[in-house]
Amino acid sequence: MNQNHYDVLVIGGGPAGTTIATLLAEKGHHVGLLEKAHHPRFHIGESLLPMNLPILEKLGVLAQVDAIGIKKYAAEFNSEETALAQDTFYFAKATKNSPPFAYEVRRSEFDAILFNNCQQKGVVTQEGMTVTHTELNADLKTIHAQDATGRQHTFTARYLVDASGRDTVLAKQLKSKRSNPKHKMAAIFGHFNKVERRTGKDAGNISIYWFQHGWIWLIPLKDGTTSIGCVCWPSYLKTRQTDLNSFLQQTLAEVPAIRARMQAAQLQGEAQATGNYSYQSSLMSGDGFLLIGDAYAFVDPVFSSGVYLAMQSATRGAELVDKLLANAPNKETLLKQFEHAVSTEIKAFCWFIYRFNSPALHKLLMASDEAAQHPVKQKIKAAVISVLAGDAYHNTEIRLPLFIFKLLYGIHKIMAFKKNYAFNRFKQQQNNLN
Ligand SMILES: Cc1cc2nc3c(=O)[nH]c(=O)nc-3n(C[C@H](O)[C@H](O)[C@H](O)COP(=O)(O)OP(=O)(O)OC[C@H]3O[C@@H](n4cnc5c(N)ncnc54)[C@H](O)[C@@H]3O)c2cc1C
Repeated sequence: MNQNHYDVLVIGGGPAGTTIATLLAEKGHHVGLLEKAHHPRFHIGESLLPMNLPILEKLGVLAQVDAIGIKKYAAEFNSEETALAQDTFYFAKATKNSPPFAYEVRRSEFDAILFNNCQQKGVVTQEGMTVTHTELNADLKTIHAQDATGRQHTFTARYLVDASGRDTVLAKQLKSKRSNPKHKMAAIFGHFNKVERRTGKDAGNISIYWFQHGWIWLIPLKDGTTSIGCVCWPSYLKTRQTDLNSFLQQTLAEVPAIRARMQAAQLQGEAQATGNYSYQSSLMSGDGFLLIGDAYAFVDPVFSSGVYLAMQSATRGAELVDKLLANAPNKETLLKQFEHAVSTEIKAFCWFIYRFNSPALHKLLMASDEAAQHPVKQKIKAAVISVLAGDAYHNTEIRLPLFIFKLLYGIHKIMAFKKNYAFNRFKQQQNNLN
């Protein structure tokens, strides 16, 4: 048996885990991090948001990410159902000074940068170490893990942070994980070469396509590869009768605009699937422990918010844990403030995510030909872009325009009542499917 004691022990070496570990080590704490895989390892989630940049800068890795990433100046939306077939939301047009671009990255490279950085900043890391269970006593946490040879290891810590992503180690142990009743989608995805790109400054933009079974992403990566994924209704995925590779290609071929961009494309490696991925833990913290990033909640990748939310909750988490380790007297208030901030940011994306496939939101997002002319509509679009950039929490300027946007959404719903009612019924049926 190995015995290792830390001020803080972090489960998981993805964006959330490495961020909180680095920031706490920089504050002088003795931090350990256990990662079940070995970096570099594959991970989905390649499109970042502009508000990731200040965090990358704070961690001191911005130049390294710039070297492996491709700049993403905008998110482009495409629809075959609306009058406007394509609309591009440039981050430079956000209400405030959020950075005018983000990055598209290969996660194996991006996560390895974050992981190496946390080692350099003094975090004691162990790869190939899978946490199996924990004992959450009030003043001391005991963490049990297993290495690749099956050998058992025990660690202790004053504070425990679960950043184990979709494995949700603590939420499973505490039985606090709930599948999201409002959103039930699943994804199939793969990497392709020879996919046609946009030109010039638009070459790094993410392209999003609505289609009858859900929506599709195209994310260009620096080495010429394009990450492509289809986020579909469960009933459609149940119709699959072929292997996953053929099913992915068959699905993509249904959209003429994508077919045109993929004429010479070839799938690299195998397609992958992630079923029914939306969940949330009913608790975010407890006495001496915290759940951050996907270990707490994941909703949907449509606005590329996952990595940002993971790193942002980790940044807030580092401030919180630092104060708690110093025995701050107002512990309850600090925890409440942390939970409120994390939940508010997630909710800002949820409003759009839950309605993304609805005819009303579809129409509103693609109505911006007029927005180019009309000053009020321009302000509304700028507010929506701020949300898409990840700048929703401190940005008070967006409140009124977003309120008007939501009002317009309601009016659209009433005006096209039949269409929207049918959609809501369909969505409810999908949410009830097993
Ligand atoms: C289909 C799909 C597409 C997505 N696209 C995007 C996108 O374009 N942009 C975006 O921002 N987000 C996207 N996401 C979300 C994104 O992948 C996650 O939100 C993000 O990776 C969360 O970071 P994290 O650090 O919380 O978890 P992770 O990145 O999952 O890291 C968790 C780490 O913990 C380790 N671990 C797990 N269990 C254990 C254990 N028992 N012991 C030790 N270590 C363990 C894992 O190996 C992993 O390295 C997408 C998600 C899906 C499902």
